[in-house]
Amino acid sequence: MATKKEIEQSCSFCGRKKKETQILITGLEGQICDQCVAQAQHIINDELHNKNKKTAFSLPGGIKPKDITKFLDQFVIGQSEAKKYLSVAVYNHYKRLNQRKDDDVEIEKSNILIAGRTGTGKTLFAKSIAKFLNVPFTIVDATVFTEAGYVGEDVESILSRLLQSCDYDIEAAQRGIIYIDEVDKISRKSDNPSITRDVSGEGVQQALLKLLEGTDVLVPPQGGRKHPDAKMVKLNTSNILFICGGAFDGIERLISSRLNQAKIGFKKGDEKDLLDTTNFLQFISPADLRSFGLIPELIGRLPILVHLDPLNEETLMAILSEPKNALLKQYHKLFQLEGIDLEFTEEAKHFMVEKALEFNLGARGLRAICETIITDAMYDLPSEKGITEFTIDKKYCEEKFSKSAARKLMAA
Ligand code: ADP
Repeated sequence: MATKKEIEQSCSFCGRKKKETQILITGLEGQICDQCVAQAQHIINDELHNKNKKTAFSLPGGIKPKDITKFLDQFVIGQSEAKKYLSVAVYNHYKRLNQRKDDDVEIEKSNILIAGRTGTGKTLFAKSIAKFLNVPFTIVDATVFTEAGYVGEDVESILSRLLQSCDYDIEAAQRGIIYIDEVDKISRKSDNPSITRDVSGEGVQQALLKLLEGTDVLVPPQGGRKHPDAKMVKLNTSNILFICGGAFDGIERLISSRLNQAKIGFKKGDEKDLLDTTNFLQFISPADLRSFGLIPELIGRLPILVHLDPLNEETLMAILSEPKNALLKQYHKLFQLEGIDLEFTEEAKHFMVEKALEFNLGARGLRAICETIITDAMYDLPSEKGITEFTIDKKYCEEKFSKSAARKLMAA
């Protein structure tokens, strides 16, 4: 039986005697040794880490699809139908993540396919959703797979990028979002697989299938292949949300011919007049994607099909100045930092939008147009003294925006 003195001189947690420890800290009613302190610190770190993970990657309490739309409204102008579909898809995705494992109804993954002309906001949507959810996010371009040819290796590189984006936190990456751009470019070139088997396109589609559905993939660890002895990292893709985007140039023709064929069976003759023929993309269906050259298995793994509307003058005007980090707000800030109050007249804004439409540059072109117009001012004004205001009007825009500038923009 230990004496009172011995008890007072030993760790109350592990029982080590004082002489077996480096430091024994005495508290009100007991002692703790240095080793127990270190172990306790370990436990605290682990617990806190797990707790943070749980809160960071589930939807914040009380969030509903309408809240997601409200958030998207800050960054994306218009596209209300897409916002609705995407909000519901994201909401359900996170409901699925929180589903109990023993539930007998298994909710399937709601990977998303966004079809929209270039510059209509596909990437912006994917980025904004990732921002809202505060999850790891990466963008990859489907065309790089076609070029490289070695399909298996490339597909795993998508996951390497996701891991990089979150500092190799596997747990976090497994709940992240991957945006695969230009998915239309890996379409089979012919609808008949036996005639022109386009290995690159179809091969990449096949390789994506498993990834989209959910599988374990071995990914090169931090530092990549430079260290061949390093162990591969296993990543499971079941809970990763994939958003694919593509312009699907020419699919309008397929949609319109499908709609016309469907009409043959109709009795009413005036149905065609009701269709908005300037925006056929709004009628896109999985059948059209199939005719375009996506394999049915891939289409099946992208159950949420969303279209984006083309940007008209009104939308482009709003894009210029309304979103949280709108272009004109950014320029205003840049000049404000110089002590200059920058203004654009309404006519100047119309000029920029007209040019974007005229040269078919879309919203992405707006930035380039602004840059060509405003660069001289950004160059000269900081060296000029006493300027506190600067207004850009239509005349100034016309002076700065020459035909050659437009040509350069179109080539970019
Ligand atoms: P996509 O991926 O469809 O080619 P992006 O998402 O890259 O197009 O959009 C190009 C740029 O245009 C983005 O930087 C974004 O700021 C702007 N943009 C496009 N559509 C919208 C929109 N609906 N609302 C706000 N900005 C937009």
